[in-house]
Amino acid sequence: MADAKKKESKYDLAIIGAGPAGLAASVYASRYKLSNAVIGPELGGYVSTTHLVEDYLGFETITGMDLAEKFSEHAKKFGAELIQEQVSAAERQANGRGDWVLTTWTDRKIRARAVLLATGTKHNKIGVPGEDKFEGRGVSYCVTCDAAFFKEKPVVIVGGGDSALKGALHLTEFASHLYVVHRRKDFRAEPTWVDRVKAKQNVTFILENEVTEVLGDGKVDGVKLKQPFKGKDSLNVDGVFIEIGSTPDPTLANAFKANIDDGNFVLVNDCQRTSAERVWAAGDNTTNSAMFRQIGTASAEGSVAAGDIYEHLNDPKAKWADKGAVSESTPVQTVVTD
Ligand code: NAP
Repeated sequence: MADAKKKESKYDLAIIGAGPAGLAASVYASRYKLSNAVIGPELGGYVSTTHLVEDYLGFETITGMDLAEKFSEHAKKFGAELIQEQVSAAERQANGRGDWVLTTWTDRKIRARAVLLATGTKHNKIGVPGEDKFEGRGVSYCVTCDAAFFKEKPVVIVGGGDSALKGALHLTEFASHLYVVHRRKDFRAEPTWVDRVKAKQNVTFILENEVTEVLGDGKVDGVKLKQPFKGKDSLNVDGVFIEIGSTPDPTLANAFKANIDDGNFVLVNDCQRTSAERVWAAGDNTTNSAMFRQIGTASAEGSVAAGDIYEHLNDPKAKWADKGAVSESTPVQTVVTD
């Protein structure tokens, strides 16, 4: 009992997710004198696993790791409490102010008047035979984390968006040869990244083609292709990097009974309010910013949310629907709290 008491903490705002949306919200919240905790296992979120960032204003080029550190240092210096844990359940108090009480994996209780869901997204899988079997044994979803394990080895990367092309550029610094397999001939990635990868000597683009199986015996030794390439239906590679986009995990949105769309993105209004009272959402997991998922848009959504949270908490007459209701078109899914 004494332990449980010691572990309970109370804030104006609990921010779930320590990426740019959550940390920007924290900076603004601190300046509004709202006590706040940023809860997330990985400080910086996806930014910390990005090799280079060159499109965030003020930083011509910076490693994702350095930028993530700057973000978390900034939030900490301005007053955030950073809690490197995962929230597993949420419950709204029926009495009193109707605070939210969050429980973390270590059973720590966090009580807050308002909650910001800034939980980002999770990597998608291609869903082919061998992908799960060889995850961690040649199959990777994080170029920055794993590129160095493939020094002087042939590897393949799947995808045609910014993540794949930025990842490809980084991989060319390690791999003996890199194959970029993309299902179309046009890329979603910024043309700058495509041009820079094309300029490398150790890259082959295999377009309008797909990886249909990851091959190996104990560890990866190749991939099968949908269409033959230069007369062969497979590539000999030691590593398979998969960068085909990402999707939010709906578990927490469901725990808060916040409405989500068909792709699990949290429905929000212009102020980042969700359908659940005193729950806001910001960053890659929301339907805002035209789904243009960038560090700049995530931090902007976090800032907007913090401003609205401040206004809402400071107006005793404020009603949740005052700022426009969130679409109810998508039904709330089953509540999962563990
Ligand atoms: P993305 O933009 O959604 O691109 C995913 C890529 O994977 C697409 O080329 C897609 O092909 C391909 N793909 C999807 N499912 C596939 C499947 N089952 N099999 C084979 N290929 C498949 O994802 P992302 O690159 O992770 O980027 C996500 C968001 O973050 C974007 O908004 C992006 O701009 C942003 N981001 C920005 C930066 C930056 O430096 N600015 C860096 C990383 C991410 P199709 O093109 O045919 O659909």
